[in-house]
Formats: sequence, C-alpha cells, structure tokens
Amino acid sequence: MQTKIYLDEENLPKTWYNIQADLPSPLDPPLHPATGKPVGSADLAPIFPMELIGQEMSTKRDIQIPEDVREILKIWRPSPLIRAHRLEKYLKTPAKIYYKWEGVSPAGSHKPNTAVPQAYYNMKDGTERIATETGAGQWGSALAFATSLFGLECTVYMVRSSYVHKPYRKSMMQVWGAECIPSPSPRTASGRAMLEKDPDTTGSLGMAISEAVEDAATHANTHYSLGSVLNHVCLHQTIMGLEAREQLAMVDDYPDVVIGSVGGGSNFAGISFPFAGDILTGKAKGTEIIGVEPAACPTMTRGLYEYDYGDVAGLTPMLKMYTLGHEFVPPALHAGGLRYHGDSPIVSRLVHDGIITPKSYLQNEVFEAAEIFARTEGIIIAPEAAHAAKGAMDAALECRKTGEAKTILFCNSGHGHFDMSAYDAFHAGEIIDYECPDDLIKESLSHLPKMRG
Ligand SMILES: *Cc1c(COP(=O)(O)O)cnc(C)c1O
Repeated sequence: MQTKIYLDEENLPKTWYNIQADLPSPLDPPLHPATGKPVGSADLAPIFPMELIGQEMSTKRDIQIPEDVREILKIWRPSPLIRAHRLEKYLKTPAKIYYKWEGVSPAGSHKPNTAVPQAYYNMKDGTERIATETGAGQWGSALAFATSLFGLECTVYMVRSSYVHKPYRKSMMQVWGAECIPSPSPRTASGRAMLEKDPDTTGSLGMAISEAVEDAATHANTHYSLGSVLNHVCLHQTIMGLEAREQLAMVDDYPDVVIGSVGGGSNFAGISFPFAGDILTGKAKGTEIIGVEPAACPTMTRGLYEYDYGDVAGLTPMLKMYTLGHEFVPPALHAGGLRYHGDSPIVSRLVHDGIITPKSYLQNEVFEAAEIFARTEGIIIAPEAAHAAKGAMDAALECRKTGEAKTILFCNSGHGHFDMSAYDAFHAGEIIDYECPDDLIKESLSHLPKMRG
C-alpha cells in the first residue's frame, strides 16, 4: 500500500506552465488606475523587475525556471504527494484521495514557490529592498525567507488584526531579517488617510497593498512584490500541479477532481492549471476543477466579473476579475489568507468560462473537516488548506453515494502550527458561521470603478 509518492530531485520541473498560451482568447488587459488605458511595461517598471513584467504578459507556454531558483527550491521540492488512505477509510469511500503536501517548505506553505523566484529576479535587477503586504503572515514570512537567501531587505505591511493575533508569523519574519509593520500604519500617506478615517480599523489586505505599493513607488531602490493574484505568481505555483501530474502518472493515475482553496487564487492555480490546460488542449476531458472559498468572503460565488482595483486606495491597475468591490472589508476570519476582495484574473476567467466550479463553505464545517483530517492523517493543517480538504471530503462522500471510485487531488497548502488559537476557538464553540449579507455585497459593488467607453 503506497502512501507517499516522491519525485527525484533531478525530476524537479525545469519549466513553469503558462496557461495563457492555451486560453481560447487573450485575457482582458490590466488597466491604468488613472487613465483607464491598458497598462504597459513602462507603467509597471517602477514596482516590478522586467523579467516578472514579461512573465505577467507572456503567452509562451513553457517558461524556464532559472537554475539558481531550482537549487533553492530543492531544499523542500519536489514536495510529496500523499495518498490519504486513513481518511478514505474513515469516509467509507471508494474514491482515492491524494493531497499535494506543501507544509514541508521552510515557511510552512506553498508561498515560497513564488517568493524565491520573485526575490531572485529582483536581486538580478539590482533591487535593494522589497516591500509587500501580508494577511495572515504566510506571505510575509515566505518573502522574508526568500529575500534573506538573496541578501535583499524586506519590509512587510501586515494586516493589523493578524499582527495582533498571529505574533509568531511576525517573529519568523524577524528571524529571517525582515521588518514587519502593522497596517494601516503612519509610515505611508495611504496608511495615514485610512487611520484618520477609522483609527480602530483592524486593517485589510486591500489597505496593506496600498501601503506596500506606495512604499515601492516612492523609493527608487525598492520594488513591490505580491504573493498571489497576479499571472506570474500563478505561473510560479504551477510547479505543484506539474509535479503532482508526474507523481500520479508514476502510479498510473490521473485526477477526476482537482480542488484547492482560493484566497487570491495562487495555490489553486498552481495545483489546477496543468490539468485545466489538459482540458483546454483536448488532452483530457471530464476533469472537475473546484475552487473553494469562505462563505464570509464569497468572491467567486457571489461577486461580479468586472474590472476593479486590487487595493482599497485605488493605486493598483484595474484587473478584470471576480470581485466583491475594492472597499469590501471581510470579517476577521480565521482563514486570514482567504480574506481578499478579488481573485486572480486567470482563475476568474476560467470560472467565467465554466472550466472551474466555485464553491463556498462556512467556518465551522471547515474546522470540523480540519479536525477529521488531523485525527485520520495526523497533520494539523492551516484553516485555508482545510477549505480544500473539506471540498475533497465532500467529493469523496459523493462517491460513496454513487459508488464511483474517482481519483481526487487536493492542494494541502500549508500546516496550521501558528493557527492553534483558531483551533482553540473552534473547541470553545466560538467560531461564527458568518454568511455575508446581500446588502453589504451590493453596497460594496456599487463602488466599482466607472469604466470609460
Ligand atoms: C495564503 C494561503 C492561501 C490562500 O492564498 P492563495 O493565493 O489563494 O493560494 C491558502 N493556503 C495557505 C496555507 C496560505 O498560506
């Protein structure tokens, strides 16, 4: 009975998969926040290195992973693909459940998969410092790790509610040499404006993005970096799906269902795009691809597919994506990494085209699933990852009803060792099942940017 499927280090993928090559028509371009015109390389040059700008817009299918990046990824990659035998047994399902285990990275999630190449391209470009935002602290700690390996400075604007409730993520950033600032902060003009409006604000990812972008745009030696949403981030994460497809082939298998949690969409993109590409190019059909989000921040399931800003202040380009409106402030969810008002433009496009099926869950059912996972498979997973685990369990229970022996693959995006207070709250019965009211969504969507023409 094989449990772990390992790829050899020499079989670590040499290229990332760019799904833009296989979309039936090009993505709607990002638009400049002031002019409403498509954004060009020159607009992005003050905040991103050229290589990443190129990847953002590229329609080349296979993009080389630099050897220096592969060498660092080898610290933990290829990551294991694990067959959840005990969970299958518990669920009494004929389905096979596999999960791609990303908790083995130094920061404990999938996020270093893009932090390392982003830090590398910035180092090559002569960047001295990178500014970024972080929600739950996962991205900040991943970038702090990556920048430390390339000798770059790192400034992280951390959503205030997480800064207060997740002190150990901040400690990790400090160990890796980064500066971590609670956002909104007096450090930036946009932060000061937000504090003036509401001095007690718990912050949001959108606010923190405004601060980090402003920091990068106003300092010549500083670039900005984003841990999700953008095309190049999704590109770097495809290493997970490419490995998983190889690993499943080693046991003569291919998934019928692929599942990931969706915050900005990067881990889901990473696990699913190689399989979505197989659908788009006619190599596979019938693969169900499911993106899971929290009911409290229901971007894909209840938002609109429209142009919107990536941040609260409206400093970022407008992206065509599923959005709840850039002014949407989600409740202080325990899956902090899933609190973003928008989603990856590519994931959004594939949802719109019917290739991806979105789904949402309430918090308590997600924690119940996380606990079942811990008590069968042993691993205490991040609340974000638990959304995907819950999706996989539901797919497996469906198989119990129909008698189908489907192959289910999900992205187990990280461990939950710094989320124990959330597990404590679950045990104390303090987790609230919050479903976002229609009025709130409607009000927030009424502030979408007005499109010209
Ligand atoms: C950040 C994070 C997520 C959500 O972000 P995506 O960009 O949607 O992947 C999910 N799981 C974990 C463990 C995370 O740290």
